[in-house]
Amino acid sequence: MKTEYNTRPRNAIIEYLRENADTRFTARDILKALNARGEDLDRSTVYRNIERLCNEGKLVRYRENDINATCYQYSEEHGSCHEHTHAQCSDCGKIFHLDNEILDEAAKKMKEDYGIEIDYGKTVIMCKCDECKSK
Ligand SMILES: [Zn+2]
Ligand SMILES: [Zn+2]
Repeated sequence: MKTEYNTRPRNAIIEYLRENADTRFTARDILKALNARGEDLDRSTVYRNIERLCNEGKLVRYRENDINATCYQYSEEHGSCHEHTHAQCSDCGKIFHLDNEILDEAAKKMKEDYGIEIDYGKTVIMCKCDECKSK
């Protein structure tokens, strides 16, 4: 039972989020969706696996102010989300993974003028995506 306990919830979470990579989820959404699929997972198992996937950079975690909750999004194909900056649409919540070069000029200026350094992995730039702009 031990090995199943380790990998099954993890794979189920990854699979579900990968299929819905453009959507934001709260931990409760993920738990509910997996149970609806017939995965018999309890809350602490799901939360623990989400935590681990965040630490590995496979999930992006961010604060969602409009619904006052912590949300998650799958991000494996973008490389480690600890190392680059994200932009988030303030309307639909969609996450964009940015190349750090985009911020290089700004980072240089901030260092020179203010003596501060951007924490790329923790920075989220609020924006409006094309789809929401045209609504
Ligand atoms: Zn990312
Ligand atoms: Zn949008």
